[in-house]
Amino acid sequence: MARIALVLGALLVTFCTPAAAQVTAFVGGRVIDGTGKVIEAATVVVRDGTIAEVGPAASVRVPEGATRVDTRGKTLMPGIVNAHGHLSAVDGFRTGAQYYTRANLERQLRAYATYGVTTVFSLGDDQADAFALRAEQAAAPPARARVFVAGPIIFTDTAEAARADTDAVIALKPDLLKIRVDDNLGTSKKMPEVAWRATLERAKAAGLTLAAHIFYLADARALAEAGNTFIAHSVRDLPVDEAFLAAMRRGNQCYSPTLMREVSTYVYESTPSWANDPFFRRGHDATIAAEAADPGRQAKFKASPAWAQGQKYKAGLEVAKANLKRVHDAGIRVAFGTDTGPAGRFQGFFEHLELELMVQSGLTPMQALVSATGTAAACWGKQGVLGTIAPGAQADLLVLAKNPLDDITNTRALDAIYIGGRRLDPPAR
Ligand SMILES: [Zn+2]
Repeated sequence: MARIALVLGALLVTFCTPAAAQVTAFVGGRVIDGTGKVIEAATVVVRDGTIAEVGPAASVRVPEGATRVDTRGKTLMPGIVNAHGHLSAVDGFRTGAQYYTRANLERQLRAYATYGVTTVFSLGDDQADAFALRAEQAAAPPARARVFVAGPIIFTDTAEAARADTDAVIALKPDLLKIRVDDNLGTSKKMPEVAWRATLERAKAAGLTLAAHIFYLADARALAEAGNTFIAHSVRDLPVDEAFLAAMRRGNQCYSPTLMREVSTYVYESTPSWANDPFFRRGHDATIAAEAADPGRQAKFKASPAWAQGQKYKAGLEVAKANLKRVHDAGIRVAFGTDTGPAGRFQGFFEHLELELMVQSGLTPMQALVSATGTAAACWGKQGVLGTIAPGAQADLLVLAKNPLDDITNTRALDAIYIGGRRLDPPAR
């Protein structure tokens, strides 16, 4: 009897004692914190998926029983945050409603994560499966990128319709709202000002940030002056002017350049430089690269109306790069974004090319990295939660074998990826 009581007692102790905290300490490496600071020879302590402490190794004690990860000679940075991506009904170069499946969305989120993009804000066309994935990640860190959603893109002709559509999207409980104020180089109708103003008013009343897809300076300026706080895409027709910059500064608004979106409109006229890059195959199928390198496919593209559009966007890219530098120099928050997800815009991989383009536009590697971590998160209200290595933030971390401050392409030297303190399995291919 006594023996049974003893066993029962032991079982009770086993069941009633809370599980010991999972503590990991990353020791000895360089830390790029996501806000612009660097700590050499640092220790980062992670407790139960959250960053508990960060500082020089000399001043941060490694807790007893912690799992030590030696990061000497390596660089630790926050996981990349994409402030403008998509989950899409796409498979490689193919599109179709049949591709909008939960399994395919999960594959896309794993592709992002495989490249160190640990959070993506999906700016539109989000359906029930995407909302479900967002809900699930609240319970435990996912083994894929975190996703936040806009729901359906709002596009109407009248103020009345805009109000009705906006209310319907708000009822879905999205993280943000998305409108498109663009005529696609004169080939389609633009959302009229009276309609976008009605949506903006509703968004503000609901406390939601509205992402406005734009192309022209005049539209971007009108939106900024109306107090819209997130400009999606670059101004691509003209150099940004002082009135636009002043309006953006006034509201501490965000500008998301998405330079790789322009590249995707023309790059398939010939074989992209990355068709044989092993890094492309880290997260994408080799058949896609072969397809991109197919001369028949390229010839067909060059004979299509899409190619002529692409030539205009190619010119727009140069305007966009110069504007990125102007906007950044003016002290405006630049939210890293790529518009990946649609066909031919490869999730995860293109984010690294975007970083490279940002540096080519005149940003320093550090400025590009801050945009792609702390600022991207803060622009969507996740300041202190995502995008930084600071106490209280989620432990979404990249361990890099090389220093990206020396060369921005070193973000590709991914040694390990952690989401909520959990190490992601290395890619299978
Ligand atoms: Zn987009």
